Amino acid sequence: MLGYQKDQKKLSFSTRIKSVIEKEGKVLLSLEETYFYPEGGGQPADEGTINGKPVHHVFLEEGEVYHQLDAFSGLTIHMPVTCEVSRKTREDHSVQHTAQHVLTAVLKDEFSVDTVSFHLGKVHATIDTAEEVSLDVARQAEDMVNGYIGEDLKVSIYHKDPRGAKALPLRKSLSVEKDIRIVQVGDVDYCGCGGTHVNSLKDLQLFKIMQVEKYKGGSRLYYVAGHRALRYLREMEDTISLLKKELLVNVDEMPFRVRQLKEDKETLHKEKEALSASYAKTLVEHCKETIQVVKVAFEDDFIQVLGQEMMKVGKIGAYYREDGRLFLFTGQQASAKALLQDLKMDFRFRGGGGDTMVQGYVEVLEELIPFVSRLYERLLRLEVSARL
Ligand SMILES: [Zn+2]
Repeated sequence: MLGYQKDQKKLSFSTRIKSVIEKEGKVLLSLEETYFYPEGGGQPADEGTINGKPVHHVFLEEGEVYHQLDAFSGLTIHMPVTCEVSRKTREDHSVQHTAQHVLTAVLKDEFSVDTVSFHLGKVHATIDTAEEVSLDVARQAEDMVNGYIGEDLKVSIYHKDPRGAKALPLRKSLSVEKDIRIVQVGDVDYCGCGGTHVNSLKDLQLFKIMQVEKYKGGSRLYYVAGHRALRYLREMEDTISLLKKELLVNVDEMPFRVRQLKEDKETLHKEKEALSASYAKTLVEHCKETIQVVKVAFEDDFIQVLGQEMMKVGKIGAYYREDGRLFLFTGQQASAKALLQDLKMDFRFRGGGGDTMVQGYVEVLEELIPFVSRLYERLLRLEVSARL
């Protein structure tokens, strides 16, 4: 039996180092006796210190518990050490893990939903279920879990042999064959489990499902309990006050306000597109040359519209901005790609496109004007050869 299972309350203890393994810039210690919880069953390892040095990870391998610390921690074999398991982390993990027992039991007993896995993260915990869970079912389950918290059900842990264990209404099949550790929550849940748990459900304070999403044919439920639930509510409160300030409305008006803003945005976008198209058309109509090379201050989107209009009337347009951005629209008159390919030999131009248009950047701004001049020359030569 592991140390934490013998005495869950023991968080400070003294022992000696049994072995030291240096590995990839880390050191792995085993101790003659340890009360650290090693990662397992979806629950992360305990945190804490050994002789004041932080323990980064604890894991079980072939029956031995290893504590991972920074290399060169000055800890050597047979050395007496003082160990501290972080109470805060242990209590938090115990709260979230016990909440999982109750949630899983409620889902199974009341809604015939099986839990297939559990993961305890830094901010929230999740369970994955075999069957899909609707938001309505999740809320009913949430109410029931909070009901049991209100009743302050006691959690008891005891050991049974296989025959004794079989007589209990166990929630899931057992993974060990002897000396089975049973965790019982009131008469709601009986489960063979090696994790850490609270002594009674009052420690869970409040249970809240944050989100339900579809996952692998079933659902993934995100939840918080205890201090995490309070922290979650505060974060929500902060988000809502920020939104209130930005949207200048009360909470109940928010959905309406957001919908309205989205509609406004769509209308403006349509108007902008129509204006762009008509402005581009006017510019093209007023352009007397068949080849136009000009510096502009337009956004990319508008340059695209302008280029399309030029190509429609069989004209060539090259537009550049002072930031080095350049567009060349040749349409059917020449290959934009081939033209720029030649210039790439002498200038640092990065871009892409095809035969009808290319867009990109002149990477060194000092080269922009010489680049554009050379491009203009090449385009004029095209025009001359076309006339011949
Ligand atoms: Zn458990």
